[in-house]
Amino acid sequence: MKVCKFGGSSLADATQLNKVIDIVLADPARRIVVVSAPGKRDKGDTKVTDLLIALAKAALAGENIDRQLGAVVERYALIADELKLGEDIVSDITRDLRSRVAQVKDLRPEEFLDLVKAAGEDNNAKLVAVAFAARGRKARYASPKDTGMVLKGDFGDATLDPDSYATLSRAFSNFEGIVIYPGFFGYTKDGKVATFPRGGSDITGSILAAAVCADVYENFTDVDSVYPVDPRIVPDVKEGIPTMTYREMRELAYAGFGVFADDAVIPAVRARIPINIRNTNHPGEPGTMIQQSRRVVPGTVVGIASADGFCNIVVEKYLMNREIGFGRRLLQILEDEHVPYEHMPSGVDSQCIVIKEQYLPREVERRVVAIIRRELEPDFVTVERDITTLMVVGEGMCYTPGMLAKACLALASAGISLSMVNQGSSEVSFMIAVRKQDRDNAVRSLYKAFFG
Ligand code: ASP
Repeated sequence: MKVCKFGGSSLADATQLNKVIDIVLADPARRIVVVSAPGKRDKGDTKVTDLLIALAKAALAGENIDRQLGAVVERYALIADELKLGEDIVSDITRDLRSRVAQVKDLRPEEFLDLVKAAGEDNNAKLVAVAFAARGRKARYASPKDTGMVLKGDFGDATLDPDSYATLSRAFSNFEGIVIYPGFFGYTKDGKVATFPRGGSDITGSILAAAVCADVYENFTDVDSVYPVDPRIVPDVKEGIPTMTYREMRELAYAGFGVFADDAVIPAVRARIPINIRNTNHPGEPGTMIQQSRRVVPGTVVGIASADGFCNIVVEKYLMNREIGFGRRLLQILEDEHVPYEHMPSGVDSQCIVIKEQYLPREVERRVVAIIRRELEPDFVTVERDITTLMVVGEGMCYTPGMLAKACLALASAGISLSMVNQGSSEVSFMIAVRKQDRDNAVRSLYKAFFG
């Protein structure tokens, strides 16, 4: 059995929805269909989830909500109209939205916001089930409440209660036909609607794939495959990545590959379910398969990622290497200030700590630097900003000499100076930091070196 998830762009209008139905019907193994709320139809458009957030905020502010509610209903009505689904589904959606908004006084603001946000996927799943019926095929809407999708943690950032796997698995044992399941939300133990973080329908799909031990989790989006490099930087990249391992995916996602959030697929990865990224607009393309292992050609690289927005605390102190506890005390300062760090390359008498800039705003930087000066008495401490990290990733690099040398040579030939180099013991990736202004040139040089 396959679990397939369709993102917002795959369900943005009637044409897209018809493609989704074609895809599902083309393979009898596609039995569980997880849907997002309708997304953007074009660049300037607004996702239904964002319309719903505006609606909830207006209701919380005690404003008249007719305009915002109308904007949401209109998105569904356009689809229903074009597919000739009848009036009932649109009236049902309008009624559902009104009954959610009416709870504004009974819930805490964060609970209310989640209740309204979840309406995007919930109503879309119902509409998709009706659209199947209009094409003469039966598909049943399944509710996260009835199937036992129990969530815990913060509203808007909820996580799955692990006991849910057993309940979900029971709910889906021996089910018949095609099930349409809304992504993005579940219920707390006391019955309140709670949502995952934004983009959370990927999480729902991944959870269901794990719960039913699916043969594959198909994640349909709007790209033919995952590309080995950002096509905005290297526009002539043609070949996608046919297969990659979970480890490679994790490294690339971490380092800036935006196809999906790596934490979204944790349930599928833990259950060793292969993940297939595919394109709703080109269903004939095989997409990218992500799995536990793959055939690896030694000396090859799977992808080159780049991510902006890093900074680097550089601490130097003569004879640092002999000062027992120096590293621990340095990290303790960051821990006390709640600043997470990413990498920590070091020299004999120097220590760099790479941090995402968002976690080190200027006032925190001033405080941290002052404490380092006071407590560690370094010879020198500074913070470099506007750092871009480049990550070269590939299982094929393991035990292959010369991979880092090749990268450094390519960057040196392009006249790019490196701020830092870091390779973990897994050898599946190495990280090179450069100044942001050198990013595009660096990515192109690395791409040329490893992909010819
Ligand atoms: N509709 C939600 C969002 O826009 C969840 C999703 O699409 O995955 O974030």
